[in-house]
Amino acid sequence: MNKENSLISVIVPMHNETEVIEQFFTRITPILDSVGNWEIICVDDGSTDDTWQKITYYTENNKQVRGLRLSRNFGKEAALTAGLDSSKGDAVIPIDADLQDPPELIPEMVEKWQQGFKVVLATRRSRDEGWLKRKSAGAFYKLMQKVSHVKIPENTGDFRLMDRMVVETIKKMTERTRFMKGIFAWSGYTTTTIFFDRPERAAGQTKWNYWKLWRFALDGIFSFTTLPLRIWTYIGATISIFAFIYGSIILLRTLIYGNNLPGYTSIMVMILFLGGIQLLSLGVLGEYIGRIYRESKNRPIYVIEESI
Ligand code: UDP
Ligand code: MG
Repeated sequence: MNKENSLISVIVPMHNETEVIEQFFTRITPILDSVGNWEIICVDDGSTDDTWQKITYYTENNKQVRGLRLSRNFGKEAALTAGLDSSKGDAVIPIDADLQDPPELIPEMVEKWQQGFKVVLATRRSRDEGWLKRKSAGAFYKLMQKVSHVKIPENTGDFRLMDRMVVETIKKMTERTRFMKGIFAWSGYTTTTIFFDRPERAAGQTKWNYWKLWRFALDGIFSFTTLPLRIWTYIGATISIFAFIYGSIILLRTLIYGNNLPGYTSIMVMILFLGGIQLLSLGVLGEYIGRIYRESKNRPIYVIEESI
């Protein structure tokens, strides 16, 4: 395949990124120029500051820049999807606006792609993010690898290069719960990895907090495995075995010693324990049913209000 005149699409989801947008453009454009033909698609994910005005400015001054404004904040995953859907490039690179994904890696990614890799992952070598975030992220990846058949690469965000073929595959995945890391990983294809040290945010604030990250992790688990549903079969079976053993013991004791009626403690323990277990399993069922409900409504993943 001739990849000399190929087009590289860069997709940038932006939510209130007015503070970094200039730095972003000054750093990325010379790099892209050195690589070849390119387009940048800025997806304004319902910003409440003047991010959109700034995007407009760049689109007016450079034909290679396009802007999509979503009708409200749909979340990064939806914004990325919007960008992927409208990208035209032979290779597509999603990148964060805050320069935590160094644009300097792009030439190397493109080189690997020209060598024939369909996916080039950019994996961070280190995570200097504080103990709790590091540990919880590590635990999440371990769990995901155990419970799901989809291999989600550790310490890898959405920053990667994807061949057009990969993008077309991803566009066929129309699920509403958009756990992009999982969706990317699900599609497979010949993959290689390059490593980098992830810098701090250039300016502005992160949009993630622990609650959001927790929801995000649950999305990942519930959309890529049904193990949480199946596990109740085994828990149920184990409890039944114990119940049978304990029941036999009580029965024997009553037959031998007669009925002397104590047993308040054991009854209470069992009622509470079983009640708890049942509520837990109902919660898990609820997670899946909620997702089925959301999918069945078939609403669009994002809504574009303006496109320039
Ligand atoms: N982002 C978005 N919609 C959101 C939240 C974030 O498009 O609802 C974008 C944000 O503008 C940035 C990228 O997603 O370009 C990563 O966000 P952030 O830097 O806050 O995440 P972190 O790097 O802390 O994981
Ligand atoms: Mg960031």
